[in-house]
Amino acid sequence: MADLRTACFFCNNAIKEKKTLEHIIPNSLLGRLRIKEETITGRKETQYSRIKVPAHSSCNSEFGSAYESRVLNLLEDLDSLYETIKSEELGLPMMYGPDESATAIITTWLSKNYYGLFYYDLISTQDEEWQEVCSSVVAGRNFEYVRASYKNGHGFQLPSSLYVFKTKNANTDLVTLVDPSSILLKIGSLTFILCICDGYLTKSYLNGEVLGRLRDWVRQEDERDIRSPSHKIALGEIAALRSCIPKTPRFILSDDQVINMSLSTMVANPDECYRVDEQALSNARAQILREFNIELG
Ligand SMILES: [Zn+2]
Repeated sequence: MADLRTACFFCNNAIKEKKTLEHIIPNSLLGRLRIKEETITGRKETQYSRIKVPAHSSCNSEFGSAYESRVLNLLEDLDSLYETIKSEELGLPMMYGPDESATAIITTWLSKNYYGLFYYDLISTQDEEWQEVCSSVVAGRNFEYVRASYKNGHGFQLPSSLYVFKTKNANTDLVTLVDPSSILLKIGSLTFILCICDGYLTKSYLNGEVLGRLRDWVRQEDERDIRSPSHKIALGEIAALRSCIPKTPRFILSDDQVINMSLSTMVANPDECYRVDEQALSNARAQILREFNIELG
């Protein structure tokens, strides 16, 4: 793993000068939310504040810190962030490029957290099986494209469906899934769920009224019992759907941009061809909730 330690997490180039360590979850945020001592579990317990990855000081300060301050600004007002992301949900961009929307900033941040967690684990774990899992994420084509997108100035992300939910329960939570690749980050009353590099496929199914119903359900479940892991059930629903969509995200890397081909189709009857099988969805949902140790009454 020697090369990983001397390569930059962001741009993948060798670090020749004195390397800096990028905090994946910034201390400023941990302090403000009083979650400094929280631990997360991959195969071993890790404190949020200890998760760091090697980076060029330029990548770290110009990109890492600049994004971080924008994220912190957005998190200052959770209610307004919730409304902003909801209003931005209405569009489904075919092209994507440099973008200052709240959705793009949060997407880049979650994507950095997702890859940063696996990168850190890959460098630091002794568990061979877990190392293999982390390696499959870090060595994957998507991460390569994410870094290309970063180098082109389009943010540390590929087109990925972002969802936001609101609860009264204000606990912190962080969940990452390898397959389908996704991350849930719950900060106070807001839960963000990002389907990593899905080319907006999930969003093309789960939007509008259907999404409204899922949001209502999460809210009602949270009102019924504030201890209910309603945010995780939302993740289960989204991950189950993502795993049952009979279509594969596809990206084309050109000189200065990544083109999302995931939503284009060559078939004559896309509705029929890309229909999600209800039985498969129900099975996938049950399996994911079992993995989360959640039983629905
Ligand atoms: Zn770099």
